Amino acid sequence: MKDRFYDLPTPCYVVDEKKVISNLEVLKDVMDRSGCKILLAQKAFSMFSMYPLISRYLCGTAASGLYEAKLGHEHFSGENHVFSPAYKEEEFIEIVEICDHIIFNSFSQWRKFGPRALKKERSCGLRINPEWSTQEGHEIYDPCATGSRLGTTIEHFYPDQLGDLEGLHMHTLCEQNSDDLVTTLRVAEEKFGSYMKQMKWINLGGGHHITRKDYDIETLVSEIIRVREKYDVVVYLEPGEAVVLNTGYLVTTVLETMHNKIDIAILDTSAACHMPDVLEMPYRPEIIGAKLPNEKKYTYRLGGPTCLAGDIIGDYSFDEPLKEGDKLIFCDMAHYSMVKNNTFNGMPLPAIAIQGIDGENKIVRQFGYEDFKGRLS
Ligand SMILES: *Cc1c(COP(=O)(O)O)cnc(C)c1O
Repeated sequence: MKDRFYDLPTPCYVVDEKKVISNLEVLKDVMDRSGCKILLAQKAFSMFSMYPLISRYLCGTAASGLYEAKLGHEHFSGENHVFSPAYKEEEFIEIVEICDHIIFNSFSQWRKFGPRALKKERSCGLRINPEWSTQEGHEIYDPCATGSRLGTTIEHFYPDQLGDLEGLHMHTLCEQNSDDLVTTLRVAEEKFGSYMKQMKWINLGGGHHITRKDYDIETLVSEIIRVREKYDVVVYLEPGEAVVLNTGYLVTTVLETMHNKIDIAILDTSAACHMPDVLEMPYRPEIIGAKLPNEKKYTYRLGGPTCLAGDIIGDYSFDEPLKEGDKLIFCDMAHYSMVKNNTFNGMPLPAIAIQGIDGENKIVRQFGYEDFKGRLS
């Protein structure tokens, strides 16, 4: 298995084209059977060298602001949706030129920017907050948590100000199955259902873990059909993670091993710089050929070469002792990895490669000192 990566520099993100295609086929099937439109949420995955491929399957992109919207505009042929909790005057001038769907977080943003969007014949929407939390222990990823700034609650929803708004948007899920969509929709429809009928579209956001093995696709499809028919609307989904779930790797090299009560290996990758969700989420990425601590004979704590004491990826066990020069391959590293990386400690950014359908690795980008320096002054 490791041989698939032998010719790559490290650290290097590698995205497996075949696996991306198989996710895209699942999503395409959902669109075909439910009649919905699926967009790529670029914030999870902005590897634009893959946009031509993804745009053969999906309907467009969802952006979090001007820069992502520009990237989608330049590299993805399809619809260009944008949502931001608050737009900036200078940015909106460009956004209104390139985005066909513009979503506002509040009636005050809609009043401020809506007229300019309508003048350009953009389809405008409002993000609602159904105030229905379906996730526990992940408040940082819960837009329905108490005091959330994301979306308009029913308390601040003014039907007389809807005007030419054509869509309602909600995004409340994170790595969740369709049962949580069902309960969220029930609450959202209780509160906002009477306004859904006046809309042209409803966007159900991201967080649908559609390409995960145990995801209940049938429930998703039937819910979409129900909403489409009941309210006579186009239904959008904008998953990020699900588009590239389990399609990417981070290939790294062991630089050094040491012992301080436990065995430790220092890698040429950093949790803090190259996989920050390991610390933020937090979660434990899989490594090809490794298991939980002590399941195999040799257990190591894996850390990065930065000064941060907590720059630890986790404890893993291996069949053989690790040694300098060994390659370790972290799994599921396509989403929320390269979009979140940084050069803290002057860490180099990992190269970016595509493993093509033919099995050949193609390096699409390498970074150097200039990329570190270029963001500073
Ligand atoms: C984060 C986000 C998404 C994508 O979420 P995933 O969990 O990656 O599917 C979609 N829409 C909005 C508004 C988001 O904030």
